[in-house]
Amino acid sequence: MGTLLITKLVIATLVVPGLAKAGSGAEYQVGVGIADMTGPCADIGFMGYADIGQKGGGIHLRQFSRAFIFVRGDARAVLVTADIHSIDIGVRRQVVQNLQQRYGNLYSLRNVILTGTHTHSGPGGYLGNFLFGVSTLGFSRETFEAYVNGITRSIVNAHNQIVPARLFVSSTHVLNAQMNRSPFSYDQNPAEERQRYNSNTDTELTQLRVVKADGSLHGVLNWFAVHTTSMNMTNRLISSDNLGYAAMRMEKELNPGRAAGKPSIVGGFFSASLGDVSPNIRGPRCERSGQECDNQFRICDLFELCFAQGPGEDMFESTKKIGEAIFKGAMEALSLPGKEVRGSLRVVNQFLDMPRESGYRYDPVQRKFTNERVHGCVPSLGYSFASGTFDGANALNMTQGTLVSNPLLDAITSIIGKPTPADVACHAPKPILLATGRANFPLPWHPKIVTLSLINIGGFAVIGVPGEPSTMAGRRMKDVVADVLKQNGFEPKVVVSSSANDYAHYVTTFEEYQVQRYEAASTIYGPHTLDIFLNKLKEFTIASVVGNIIPQGPEPTDLLNQTISLIPSVPADNAPFGKNFGDVFQQPPEVVKAGEIVTVVFVGANPRNDLRQESSYVEVEKLEQGGWITVATDANWDTRFSVERVEGLFSSSIRATVTWRASNDRTLHRVAYNGAARGFLGNIVSFRGVSNPFMII
Ligand code: ZN
Repeated sequence: MGTLLITKLVIATLVVPGLAKAGSGAEYQVGVGIADMTGPCADIGFMGYADIGQKGGGIHLRQFSRAFIFVRGDARAVLVTADIHSIDIGVRRQVVQNLQQRYGNLYSLRNVILTGTHTHSGPGGYLGNFLFGVSTLGFSRETFEAYVNGITRSIVNAHNQIVPARLFVSSTHVLNAQMNRSPFSYDQNPAEERQRYNSNTDTELTQLRVVKADGSLHGVLNWFAVHTTSMNMTNRLISSDNLGYAAMRMEKELNPGRAAGKPSIVGGFFSASLGDVSPNIRGPRCERSGQECDNQFRICDLFELCFAQGPGEDMFESTKKIGEAIFKGAMEALSLPGKEVRGSLRVVNQFLDMPRESGYRYDPVQRKFTNERVHGCVPSLGYSFASGTFDGANALNMTQGTLVSNPLLDAITSIIGKPTPADVACHAPKPILLATGRANFPLPWHPKIVTLSLINIGGFAVIGVPGEPSTMAGRRMKDVVADVLKQNGFEPKVVVSSSANDYAHYVTTFEEYQVQRYEAASTIYGPHTLDIFLNKLKEFTIASVVGNIIPQGPEPTDLLNQTISLIPSVPADNAPFGKNFGDVFQQPPEVVKAGEIVTVVFVGANPRNDLRQESSYVEVEKLEQGGWITVATDANWDTRFSVERVEGLFSSSIRATVTWRASNDRTLHRVAYNGAARGFLGNIVSFRGVSNPFMII
C-alpha cells in the first residue's frame, strides 16, 4: 500500500515557535501529569470487541493516564485522556472521592472530565452497567482499582505541576490515517451539508499547546478522530493502540533521554469524532476469499468474516503506521505559531436523564433549531448492533442495515425485558434487539443518565460526549457551539472529546439513524439523541459565556455494590519440578545482530499478583561502567511480554516470554523479568529472573 502522507513535510528538528518569547503575561495556571494505569494483563477479557475469547495474555504497551488541569481565578477544570475504552460514573466518582480526600472540594463531579482513548486492547470489567461486563464474565474489581488508582495518580501529578502558563491553538490535517466505515450512512446526510466538507471523515488534528512562563513547553493536548482499533480482536497483549503509539512517540521526541512513560513534557491524545472512522484503511475484505465486502450489500460466504485491515502487514505494523502519521501531524502542528487563547475559563458538566430529555430538532441545512419538539428514548440496541462493524466481529452473523425482526433473536432477547409499544415507536425505524433500558436484572444493563460537558477556555471549547459521535454528528456539535461563541465575539475553535465521562455507545445524526447500520443501531437513546445534545450544548455554551450556573442534574445511583462477577480468583502459582520462579527456560544467543528479535523464556507466575504500575515486568539492561542500567521496559514499543499457562504432570505453571528487538547499541545486554508468585495460603512473594548476557553486533 502507499506510504502515509501528511499535508506538509514535518520539520526534522523540533522548532516550537513562540517559546522563548512567551515569558510574560501568563493567562492561566496549568498542570500536566502522567501515570501508569495498566490493568491486570492476564485472564481478564478485553473491553471493546465484546469477544468473550479475547482475554489478556501479556503486554505490548503499558496503559497511561494523562491529566491536564486548567486554572484561572476560582475556575478550575480537569481533563484526562486515559488509555482505556471508556469511562463511567463509577470510575469518575471514585477518582473524585480520592481527590477530595486530598484536596477537599477543589475537585468535584462538576469540574473533573475523564475521557478514554477507546483502545480495544485493555482489560475490561470496570464499568458498572451489566451489558458492559457480559463479555468479561462480570465486574473486575482488579481492573476497576487499577484504572482508578492510575487516573487519580495522574491528576495528583498534574496538581503538583501547576505553573503559570500560556495556551496556543494550532491545527493541521492528517491524511491517509482514516477511512469512513459507514459511508452509506454518511451519504444520508443532506447534500447541502456534505458539500461544506471535502471528506467523509474529519481529517483535522487540533492541538492545544501549554507553554510555561519561562517559555519552555509544559504539555501538549491533541484531538484526532480515529478508532483505536488498529489492534484487532485476535490480539491478547495490552496495547494503547494507534493513539497510544502517537503519545509515546511524541513524548520520546519532546523528552530526550527520559524513560518511556516517564516524561516531564506530557503529550496527550484525545479521540475526537471517531464513531464511523476506522484506521484499517485497506478496507474490509472477506476473511478467506479476499473479496471486498461491506456486510450489507456485499456479503461474504456463510461463516466467513468481513473485516478490515491495514495499512501494515500485521496489526502491530498497522498500529505503528497509523500512530506515526498522527504523531507527525502533531509535530507539524507544534511547529506552527498557533493562536494564543485568552479569556475566561468555564466548565459545565450536567447529568442528563436521556429518556426524559427533550429539545428542538436541529436543521443542519439552515444550521438552526426548528420548532419541532423531539424526545429521548429508553435505551435500546437495534439488530445491526449484533453485526458489529468491519473493525470487529460479525458475531451473530447478521448483516448491517437490518430493518426487519428475526424471531429467533426475539425469543432469546425478550426474556430480558420487553420494549413497550412506546419504546418501539420512539426508536423507529430501529428494530429493537435488546430493550436494555427495560432490563434491570441483575442490575441495569445500560445507563439512562449520562454526563455531557463543555470546557470553554477563552473561546477554545472542548465538548465531552458520553459516547462515540459520527463524523457529521461531531461537526454539528462543533457548529452549534462555535455559532454561540461567534455571536459573543469569540474567534472560536471547538473540539469533540469522545468516550467522555460515561459510555452510551454511538451518536449518529437523525439522517444516518434512518438506515440503521451498526453505529445507528447503537445510538441507544433513539433518533434524536444528537438533537438533545445539540440543545444542551447551546445552553452550556451560552452559560459559559455569561457565567450562569447550570444545574448539576440527577446524579446516577451507585451500581458498584450490585455488580456481580464470575471471574475466577487468581490461583496459587507453581514452578515446574526442580525449577524456581524466575529460572530461565530459554536463554538468548550469546551474540545478537542489531534489529534482531531476542527471545527469553522464564518460569513465571500470574502477573495479576502484582500489576507493577509505575514499574515493569520486563527490564532490558545494558552494561555501562560496570553496572547494569535499564534501557527498555514493558512501556517500550520494542518489548513484548506474554504469559501462557502450561499443564504439567501434577499441576499447571506459567511460562513468561519476553521478546525484544535488539537496538543498535553494540554492547553487552541482558533481559530481566520481575514477577510475584502466590503461595497456597495467598501470600505473595516477589522474585526476579535474569538471562545470560548477550552481545549486540
Ligand atoms: Zn467504537
